[in-house]
Amino acid sequence: MKIHEYQARQLLADFGIPVPPGRMVETVADAAAEARRLFEGGAGIVVVKAQVHAGGRGKAGFVKVVKTADEAEKAAAFMLSHRMVSPQTPPEGLEVKRLLVAAGVDIAKEYYLAIVTDRARRTNTLIASAEGGVEIEHVAATRPDAIVKVAMDPTMGLSAYQAREVAFRLGFRGKQVGQAADTMMKLASLYLAKDASLAEINPLVVTPPAQAHPDGRVVAIDAKFNFHANALFRHPALQAMFDPTEENPAELRAREFELNYVALDGNIGCLVNGAGLAMSTMDIIKLHGGDPANFLDVGGGATEEAVTEAFRIILSDGRVKGVLVNIFGGIMQCDKIARAIVAAAKNIGFKVPLVVRLEGTNVAEARRILEAARAELPTMQAATDLTDAARKVCSAVS
Ligand code: GDP
Ligand code: MN
Repeated sequence: MKIHEYQARQLLADFGIPVPPGRMVETVADAAAEARRLFEGGAGIVVVKAQVHAGGRGKAGFVKVVKTADEAEKAAAFMLSHRMVSPQTPPEGLEVKRLLVAAGVDIAKEYYLAIVTDRARRTNTLIASAEGGVEIEHVAATRPDAIVKVAMDPTMGLSAYQAREVAFRLGFRGKQVGQAADTMMKLASLYLAKDASLAEINPLVVTPPAQAHPDGRVVAIDAKFNFHANALFRHPALQAMFDPTEENPAELRAREFELNYVALDGNIGCLVNGAGLAMSTMDIIKLHGGDPANFLDVGGGATEEAVTEAFRIILSDGRVKGVLVNIFGGIMQCDKIARAIVAAAKNIGFKVPLVVRLEGTNVAEARRILEAARAELPTMQAATDLTDAARKVCSAVS
């Protein structure tokens, strides 16, 4: 589960990491009022930032540093009336419904800091770079040596000596070292305490030297988090941060019916029971030159209603040019799937080719049901096994 930057900043603040003050607003008028309040409170600059579950806002023009409340108003009016398109959004972009208006920070240097679940190393890993900011993806791709990675101990978490070492390697000096290391330690605590899979601060900045802080201050001015969905039951406060309007609507509907659905880019809709079978179904489609439009595991206990809903989700995707049903009935009864296919044919209609491979519990009954409904399923072909099914659906869509 992702959260917005304004929520992420609150979490950072809760864990004692310095973040500039700010507030989430939903209207142009509130944005202007909040900016005015910050300027009157002594802020030299204010930053207006689109709150969407995607990065790349800076380059897309959806992070604006402003010097007056009027400029803040203009920036807010632009962001709330334009879709944001970045390499991290769908091509049509995202609607912006919320903004963060925060005190701006003078920046001497930008750093990158993150903790991720590194599946290749099988550890939580601290990733840091002295070249943070909006070009970090480019830096990671072209100069991997500019990125520092440190494995965290599974039981001890991040150690203080590791944090200090990283701070020195990134070139922090004087009082900055302690502040940067402290931020790393706190970010690691937050990551573990909240069952995160990603905790990223980019940029972590050092402010220019000032009388009160001759070495500058280390401050977080953007944060991005991702949390393990299966651990959310332990975190009611995080659950409350869930913003359904930022989710893929098909994935949301699938969740309501307890279906495991992930939208993908291809054109073959898949309905499968069991995550393992769903993975091998996607593999075998690829092997035969096709591209799955989704991952969909209806599980073992799904009701006929839920399976019908699964078909509705698949068939409402305009990119789907063919559907493959691959069921190995163990707990799932094949006749339940067959009834759902017939219900979907009656309620929605299969206008695209449908390839069905059914085996296991109650398969004879399932075949009888499908045979009896032939007239309603003109595009249906039966497949004998997985390979046959993949061949048939791939040639049907090509
Ligand atoms: P992102 O592009 O979605 O990651 O949004 P960020 O919040 O990281 O902002 C992008 C860039 O805008 C940062 O790397 C900074 O260079 C700049 N920026 C953001 N906030 C401030 C601020 O308070 N002061 C200044 N001077 N620049 C800022
Ligand atoms: Mn950023």
